[in-house]
Amino acid sequence: MGRYTGPVCRLCRRSGEKLMLKGARCFTPKCGEDKRPKPPGMAGGRRRKLSDRGTQLREKQKARYIYGMLEKQFKQSFLKAESQPGVTGDSLLVLLERRLDNIIFRLGFADSRNQARQLVQHGHIILNTRKTDIPSSLVKAGDKISWREGSKKTEYFKTALAGIEAKMTPGWLSLDKANMTGQVLSLPAPADIEALFDVKAIVEYYSR
Ligand code: SF4
Repeated sequence: MGRYTGPVCRLCRRSGEKLMLKGARCFTPKCGEDKRPKPPGMAGGRRRKLSDRGTQLREKQKARYIYGMLEKQFKQSFLKAESQPGVTGDSLLVLLERRLDNIIFRLGFADSRNQARQLVQHGHIILNTRKTDIPSSLVKAGDKISWREGSKKTEYFKTALAGIEAKMTPGWLSLDKANMTGQVLSLPAPADIEALFDVKAIVEYYSR
């Protein structure tokens, strides 16, 4: 499945918010949204006031950018959420959080979901007993995440190990910092998920 490969900070500037897509850089003065808080392509321009539809679209785009998904894949997740019993917005949030690249990010093995996606794609991650290179794989309660033996010799792994002590993980995941392994204790409750977008607006966007 494809992904956006353009300048990432541009997505924040387009959304008018810091979406924290670049890990540590987002907390530095180099942040593009802090330096140039204007929409791209509008040098001296001001943001237009959005219609309801425009607001719904913006929230949907923000969620897409945050999880690094293209429209087709995101819509598929929405349709899957819609087909599940319960509140569609809640189901969508949980489906997005269950993505393997998101889990790698939440465990602190990567500074951003983009970096987490690369770790998975490059075959560094073992899900339960098997190597998986599909970032959109959905984890289940009880799943275990570890590193491929060969990957533990890389500089990336050593740096990640050195920095893991300072990382915080959500309560639905457990992290063994010494061994750099994680486990999904349970699926997250919607209230456990800190979303930088309004999921209700996304449901309204697709429901028209
Ligand atoms: Fe967004 Fe981070 Fe770039 Fe700032 S540094 S514009 S928060 S991706």
